[in-house]
Amino acid sequence: MNDTKTSSSPIKTDAEWRAQLTPEQYRVLRHKGTERAFSGALWNEHRAGTYRCAGCGAPLFGSNAKFESGTGWPSFFEPADQNAVATESDRSFFMTRTEATCANCGGHLGHVFDDGPAPTGQRYCINSLALDLDTESSSQPG
Ligand SMILES: [Zn+2]
Repeated sequence: MNDTKTSSSPIKTDAEWRAQLTPEQYRVLRHKGTERAFSGALWNEHRAGTYRCAGCGAPLFGSNAKFESGTGWPSFFEPADQNAVATESDRSFFMTRTEATCANCGGHLGHVFDDGPAPTGQRYCINSLALDLDTESSSQPG
């Protein structure tokens, strides 16, 4: 009985993440896992809406920034807000890549590459497991 933390905090213990997330989500978000290409639920998703962090619910990407990358992962040319997605250098696997994480809870989302389409030229290659599509908030025109 030491429950002094507020439940609204995005910072959770490892045990709390394990309890909240599915094993697959936990592996991706908390241990930088990568789902197999074309295995996720959202790479071929075309509904309008907001893609939220599967860990904390923060809005990360809008469906209007999603494009067909052909990679088998949901791909976006820009985040919903520049402050929503944090990036940092990832030097694993003998490559230097840019890791994309949720700025709110620190969950691993995927990687950012510089071969995306206009107008940003960036490709946010994101695991479906790290995202939840919220179609109910798609009230913007268009
Ligand atoms: Zn998050």
